[in-house]
Amino acid sequence: MNIDLDHVMKITERPPIVMVEGLGSGPWDLDGGHDLDFVRAWAGSGCGHGRRWMLEAMAAQANLLINCSPAYHNEQMAKLATLLAEGTGLAEVFLCNSGAEANEGAIKLARKWGARHRTGAHEIVTMEHGFHGRTLATMAASGKRGWDRLFEPKVPGFPKVPLGDLDAVKRAVCPDTVGVMLEPIQGEAGVFPAGDDFLRDLRKLTRELGVLLIVDEIQTGIGRTGRMFGFEHAGIEPDIVTLGKGLGGGVPLAALVAARSVSCFEPGDQGGTFNGSPLMAAIGCAVVETVSQPSFLAAVEERGRYLMERLSALSAELGHGEVRGRGLLVALELRGRDAPTVAREALGRGLLVNAPRPDTLRFMPALTVTIAEIDEMIARLRPGLA
Ligand code: PLP
Repeated sequence: MNIDLDHVMKITERPPIVMVEGLGSGPWDLDGGHDLDFVRAWAGSGCGHGRRWMLEAMAAQANLLINCSPAYHNEQMAKLATLLAEGTGLAEVFLCNSGAEANEGAIKLARKWGARHRTGAHEIVTMEHGFHGRTLATMAASGKRGWDRLFEPKVPGFPKVPLGDLDAVKRAVCPDTVGVMLEPIQGEAGVFPAGDDFLRDLRKLTRELGVLLIVDEIQTGIGRTGRMFGFEHAGIEPDIVTLGKGLGGGVPLAALVAARSVSCFEPGDQGGTFNGSPLMAAIGCAVVETVSQPSFLAAVEERGRYLMERLSALSAELGHGEVRGRGLLVALELRGRDAPTVAREALGRGLLVNAPRPDTLRFMPALTVTIAEIDEMIARLRPGLA
């Protein structure tokens, strides 16, 4: 098949393969290769490709109603909002289309809350190397290397502190501070956990200071760490939680979830043509109902442990570095090998892995990955690490 790629805007380095089909852990390109996916569309299709229950939910809703505009309630929007409110322990949910949009909404909501309740406070303390999206505000909130001079002038109001440094947070807080925002595990940075103790200390501190704790669960939420939400491991309750990626099981769906006391948007403050569409929300309901089953989450935890064990053994055998992460969000630090080169070579063996740093490989398989697929991944990875 002759496919013209010349008119596709070049927003990232893409390998010269064209995906056409997917089932379980395998997407297939035009030549039928590349069948072991440990990237999962950047963790966006968490439950695996081509799941029948997801296709059935999609088809049933598509037959009923695809979109009725956010100007009206719809059944699926209400159902998904209820599921997410019950799951997070928070009260109000705004459904949207991408992680960046959810975080942009969280920033706007915090600023509005600050205007109302903290005499105009608007700054959000964020973490060095954090990642929150690619809109102007979420890029400013991110601490990604090389982004500090991009697309200037920057949206102001996002002082940065090192992840895990509570004293630095205390020093960064001022009368203009409205909240602190972080990921429970910094995924794009290379899988660096914030630490349960740090999250608990931060919750305590933000309560004492009367500022908001905003937890970006776009990569860690919806079962990725073996619990429904990453913050559950620390036993805390944030004021605002954002979700995306796995929530839609591969379709564009994200959510901003907030405590009732923080939910202060007024008509006109927030919205968008496709927000809360019944089709996307129906798929989100099917995903949440499936992933939140205790047996599903226990299996994620078990396979995550197995993945870490296998990677740790391989790393020890071949002289590489740390294996870190939680559940099925795991990184391997390489010694003496360039991670993007290893990822490119793995592609030649039909394995998709991702290199978020020059010395780090990241593994985000389907939440339904099997032990046999993990074994196969290790076998295909091994030649590139030796
Ligand atoms: N927040 C985190 C923690 C992410 O990992 C990402 C994407 O990688 C985003 C936000 C942005 O999500 P999206 O790409 O859906 O806009």
